[in-house]
Amino acid sequence: MLVSTILNRVQKFKSFVYSTVRWAGDVIEIEVVPRANGKPVCSGCERPRPGYDRLATRRFEFVPLWGLKVFLVYAPRRVQCSSCGVKVERLPWATGKHQLTDAYAWFLARWARRLSWKEVAEVFRTSWDNVFRSVEMAVTWGREHMSLEGVRAIGIDEIAWQRGHKYLTLVYQIDPHCKRLLWIGEHRKVKTLLRFFRWLGKERSLALTHICSDMWKPYLKVIAKKASAAVHVLDRFHIMSHFSKAIDEVRAGEAKALKAKGLEPVLTKTRWLLLKRPENLTDMQSIRLADLLQYNLKSVRSYLMKESFQLFWQYASPHWAGNFLDRWCTEAMRSKIEPMKKVARMLRTHRPLLLNWFRAKGQLSSGIVEGFNTKAKLTTRKAFGFRTYHAMEIALYHALGALPEPESTHRFC
Ligand SMILES: [Zn+2]
Repeated sequence: MLVSTILNRVQKFKSFVYSTVRWAGDVIEIEVVPRANGKPVCSGCERPRPGYDRLATRRFEFVPLWGLKVFLVYAPRRVQCSSCGVKVERLPWATGKHQLTDAYAWFLARWARRLSWKEVAEVFRTSWDNVFRSVEMAVTWGREHMSLEGVRAIGIDEIAWQRGHKYLTLVYQIDPHCKRLLWIGEHRKVKTLLRFFRWLGKERSLALTHICSDMWKPYLKVIAKKASAAVHVLDRFHIMSHFSKAIDEVRAGEAKALKAKGLEPVLTKTRWLLLKRPENLTDMQSIRLADLLQYNLKSVRSYLMKESFQLFWQYASPHWAGNFLDRWCTEAMRSKIEPMKKVARMLRTHRPLLLNWFRAKGQLSSGIVEGFNTKAKLTTRKAFGFRTYHAMEIALYHALGALPEPESTHRFC
């Protein structure tokens, strides 16, 4: 069987044929020639036009074979187009001026979902730039072809990047039938989220039934204005992360105070004991936690307050949950622990939105946003070359966007 026969099985072009296959050093070169009766197609208007002249031979990298690089070799024709002037013909295997064939770009982009971009470049002996451009092509195509039908529930989240100096706003679709990253915006301002709603469109924004987010003021403001029909929920994941921040603050302050008094460093290496849920602790950690709980420390009391608040999420009725919330806040305000009082004040201010959690129960799972948040942080932390916002955006859409791909007759990977 000839290589060209195999190629015709996996990727056949209507107006071109595979001709000579050459062994050129340690690469395979496959010459492509136009069919005798085929007219070149203008790359400007996509219409068949009379030929004008031929350009020099170009090489287009194709999917590697037996660990060898493969190139399609072709001298593009130029057309005399009545509407576009003299133009290079459109080639069915490559887009624009790319040196990679579309098949190879999709091949690299698919691998870039499983491996880091650096690893893909190493494995296939290509440049980081080629991998990046391939992923960029896949994301651009996917964003253009994605469907926005049936978006009902969204989760709005933020993550810090560039060593915490900058924020990204991430909007996820969290419907039972479709969970994906929908949109990314730079910063976390009013303007940022307004851009999202403009992108989604007025009709689809009003069709939203559930939105969950953090208590971040700019978000609350925009959501109330742009998606008035939706039940807005402050979700468990975000609320509990405020508790963790408060405990961190109490612990750090107390550890410092104890050290100044020259007391035993009882709080050394206790951070995770206090932040983790008790059921997630190792045996050793459980023993150390039991030990720590003997001390009447502010950190310990804050920890117990956080654990007692977990009960809040177990309620079925918003009414009883509301009673619990009020009692908890009153106690917290008496605690004389400033970071916990801050949490209590914040919860009080957002009481109606907090209780919406119970109105939306069963329809929203708080784990989804948390899961996406973890994956997004992981993607941004693999900081290989993501120095620009654009590269970060491409990486996140590629990893979490569940973007569609074109249907092709053959999948190379
Ligand atoms: Zn044209």
